[in-house]
Amino acid sequence: MIIFGIRGSKIHPLKLKQGHCPHCATTNNMWVLGHRNYFHIFWIPIFPLWKQLYATCDHCKGVFEKYKLKDPLLLNEFMSSQKELRTTKWYLFTGSILMLLAIFSVIIIAIAQYKYTT
Ligand SMILES: [Zn+2]
Repeated sequence: MIIFGIRGSKIHPLKLKQGHCPHCATTNNMWVLGHRNYFHIFWIPIFPLWKQLYATCDHCKGVFEKYKLKDPLLLNEFMSSQKELRTTKWYLFTGSILMLLAIFSVIIIAIAQYKYTT
């Protein structure tokens, strides 16, 4: 039995420098949070999939997706933070790296055995 599926990895939160909360109108108290989903086999990440980001207010704890951000300053900050959070962590490719290492090991062992027998 192979256990596989999709899991989420938390993205490090980033504080937004400008803008006010769409719910409580508190200024300069917004954060960008999110997670990147990845495909796993036996809980080992094979490759990353899509990323979900949202803004949260530290005062009222409201969670807002991009389309709910009406303040242009906040929306601009959110968009620039999306560019900052674009990098994908290497460990989300752990399973792919292990599979490539296994394939190269088998090839090297096969070549060595072929040279040894001939
Ligand atoms: Zn708020």
